[in-house]
Amino acid sequence: MKLSTPLLWGFLTGLPLVLAGANCNSLAQRLRVELSPHLSGENLISATAPPRWSDFEAPDPGAVVNVATESDVVATVKYCAERNIPFLAQNGGNGWATTFHLDKTGVIINLAGLNEVTFNADKTQATIGGGSNVSNTIDHAYAAGALVVTGNCNCVGTLGALLGGGYGNLVGKYSLGVDNILSLRVVTADGLLRNVTATSDPDLFWALRGAGPNFGIVTSVTVKSYPASEEEMQAWTGSLVYGEHQLEDVVQAIQDLVLTPDMVIFLYLLADPTTGSPAVIAAPFFYGGNATTGKAAYSSLYAIGPVADSTSVKPYNRWNEGSDGLCTRGSFKPGWAAGFQDMVPATWRGIWDAYVAFQKLPGAANSGVLLEAYPLGKARSVASGSSAFPNRNVNLNAFAIPWYNDSSLDAQAAEFGNTARDLLRSTSGLSRPQTYVNFGYGDEDLDVIYGSSLARLRDIKKKYDPNNVFNQWFNIL
Ligand SMILES: Cc1cc2nc3c(=O)[nH]c(=O)nc-3n(C[C@H](O)[C@H](O)[C@H](O)COP(=O)(O)OP(=O)(O)OC[C@H]3O[C@@H](n4cnc5c(N)ncnc54)[C@H](O)[C@@H]3O)c2cc1C
Repeated sequence: MKLSTPLLWGFLTGLPLVLAGANCNSLAQRLRVELSPHLSGENLISATAPPRWSDFEAPDPGAVVNVATESDVVATVKYCAERNIPFLAQNGGNGWATTFHLDKTGVIINLAGLNEVTFNADKTQATIGGGSNVSNTIDHAYAAGALVVTGNCNCVGTLGALLGGGYGNLVGKYSLGVDNILSLRVVTADGLLRNVTATSDPDLFWALRGAGPNFGIVTSVTVKSYPASEEEMQAWTGSLVYGEHQLEDVVQAIQDLVLTPDMVIFLYLLADPTTGSPAVIAAPFFYGGNATTGKAAYSSLYAIGPVADSTSVKPYNRWNEGSDGLCTRGSFKPGWAAGFQDMVPATWRGIWDAYVAFQKLPGAANSGVLLEAYPLGKARSVASGSSAFPNRNVNLNAFAIPWYNDSSLDAQAAEFGNTARDLLRSTSGLSRPQTYVNFGYGDEDLDVIYGSSLARLRDIKKKYDPNNVFNQWFNIL
């Protein structure tokens, strides 16, 4: 065992060890002594992790391992699993679910150092590090001249979003993120680093694509990528702002829109960036579009008469910039979500009322509701049982995010979130509640999250993670 200088000094003098203000019994200190010698570098252990998107019931680690190599992940998983120390991989840190439970006695494995993104010679495959966020992945893809299916917010972990399903602007053209996965390098509960493909480990390959965080830590993934010229990497996008009285018309227009594979539309109930007042904001996206074709494709939304229009043609590396404000770290941001089939104006009026009531509370101005509508023809051409992702039947997903700083608002935040979720469920058009795992609050029954995949996931879990060491993310029991 290698001893750090202060530790060696402590041993030699027999004095109690109090190092740099940290008691030697702290988990971080214990890992510095016991795990560090097995890592690729000397200073990879710290006491705090990079800030998370939401502080609401956020994982509270006793130590953080800032891995630099795949072997560091192997060593850390083995170390923690053998000692029953809870652990959690952190990628973008956007996961807002309340299912984390480290309670100062567990370890965060910070994957940010594994952020390499490379392409094969003909740009048809991208290999993306387990710690790459969407911004980093798109920057590399844009520079390489290729498109990759990622989430639509720059701060989100590419893998964090992908492993749950992976919605994004290119879903209409290329299907869900999980449908583009060719292979994954994964550290499993037994401490093995496996290269998982459809033929090497069919069950694990199936489970990782929809319920990934329950089966291992993905150090990198190889996905399909799509070579594109500069001209082919342009999209028309931006936001159209409406007044409150136009809500029903906007909701109905989205309901009536026929989305071609190039189109995506989001609806936000959010503070108008210029006035700070609650507003109805539609965010259309049209791959390959321009002002003329974009306005034609979304003519029904223009006919309602937006009060502001920020749409323009943007290159691939700027498609997500409209949502950069949503990436702000910190504050409390629990999220209540539901999948559903149709936009119902009366439902959205009820959600609006709940949103406005909460948003006007002190410190809650940034709160919002977000609806995502993707063209799903391509995703539905893929067999529904081909991966663990269980929601191909769901047309639309929405979530309410109370965003606040004072925990005295917790109860009102929950009232807003539950009201919005109940309203969405009440007119969902689904035979049972279904929620995209990456949008779940954390209190849902497992069949709401994993649906028809749950039974098979349980069987695969018994085989690959019999002691359930990957238990922090909508834990499969
Ligand atoms: C602002 C915002 C925008 C979003 N936009 C989209 C979107 O466009 N499309 C979409 O599909 N979702 C979107 N989401 C939801 C997003 O997919 C989830 O929040 C996701 O869990 C975030 O992943 P992360 O890596 O950022 O977070 P983390 O909290 O780091 O990770 C979430 C979970 O995934 C696990 N995980 C992360 N990386 C790995 C890995 N390499 N191997 C194994 N497990 C891993 C973590 O351990 C954790 O359990 C958005 C969320 C936010 C807050």
